[in-house]
Amino acid sequence: MKIAILPGDGIGTEIVAEAVKVLQCLDLKFEMEHALVGGAAYDAHGHPLPDSTLSLAKAADAVLFGAVGDWKYDKLVRPLRPEQAILGLRKHLGLFANLRPAICYEQLMHASSLKPELVAGLDILIIRELTGDIYFGQPRGRRTAVDGHFPGAEEAFDTMRYSKPEIERIAHVAFQAARKRGRKVTSVDKANVLETFQFWKDVVTEVHAQYPDVELEHMYVDNAAMQLVKAPKKFDVVVTGNMFGDILSDEAAMLTGSIGMLPSASLDKANKGLYEPSHGSAPDIAGKGIANPLATILSAAMMLRYTLNQPEAADRIESAVRSVLAAGYRTGDIWSEGTTKVGTREMGDAVVAALITTKTITKS
Ligand code: NAD
Repeated sequence: MKIAILPGDGIGTEIVAEAVKVLQCLDLKFEMEHALVGGAAYDAHGHPLPDSTLSLAKAADAVLFGAVGDWKYDKLVRPLRPEQAILGLRKHLGLFANLRPAICYEQLMHASSLKPELVAGLDILIIRELTGDIYFGQPRGRRTAVDGHFPGAEEAFDTMRYSKPEIERIAHVAFQAARKRGRKVTSVDKANVLETFQFWKDVVTEVHAQYPDVELEHMYVDNAAMQLVKAPKKFDVVVTGNMFGDILSDEAAMLTGSIGMLPSASLDKANKGLYEPSHGSAPDIAGKGIANPLATILSAAMMLRYTLNQPEAADRIESAVRSVLAAGYRTGDIWSEGTTKVGTREMGDAVVAALITTKTITKS
């Protein structure tokens, strides 16, 4: 099992080191190879996704990714900005489905900005289409307006588009995932305003005919944003386009208490995947040793489950994380009165210790 390890920038290096530590204490053999990506790769090679990094990612069975970006790169031309590395990896690896579970751990119920009774037991899966929509649509750019409200003024424009096969394949991912969960899919669109999303709605409805055992509801994105904070537990699987999914998955993240807790998987059609925490490189806390590594550790667990076919190892990591939370260990982002504040490395050590304990219990 070959894993490409791409820590990236900011807290990326700190949190990925903890996930690697956790993987290394399993009874499994991995070949792990590190490479630079994002701003770190730009500094060393002049490009956020050098050919050597892309080749490694292509050759590996799975990619464990930290995060990229820093304000200091904001003045670079867009193709050289660190965030382009993620877009490039998604595109070149054909990663079209982004799975982001939003689970509210019992112990962290009070860290949510919502009332505990609204989030206790929350378990939503947000499925975001990753390679289409306005983020990739051409043409895009700046020009002088020839019409609109201010002809002759400078303007910028992007193109929102989805093809039928792109919508069909993400709809299949959503319906199949729902079959393993609560058998309900909410397809989020903006069909009342956007042609692209009327088409989205029509195609999802068509695909649904193959899944009569799964309930399908359609919801406008503005309502979905509202329902996520009003009654989040009524969702099971949410499927939506690239831009709406980007926004709603961060909103769902906050329901759980901290973005530092949420893993994600981006899969291709053969379930090869890139695994990364849902958060960014957090330049505001980088280098301080206080970042929460659990989202990255849980991403490694998802990697074991979805790509490397090691569900038992994935279960072990997830239950180690639960027992660490139950023991009261908290990084600053999830800390509350009466719990023990720990740093990034101590949190990683606690998960490793919990894994070793469960191994000992299993053997004895
Ligand atoms: P961010 O997710 O990096 O940070 C948002 C807030 O959450 C910050 O206050 C940060 O300190 C906190 N936070 C994030 N992860 C945390 C963790 N593990 N533990 C504790 N606190 C955590 O988002 P941002 O500030 O909007 O963006 C920062 C940089 O990250 C930008 O350059 C952005 O482009 C980039 N970014 C990268 C990715 C990615 O690599 N996939 C995703 C989003 C943003």
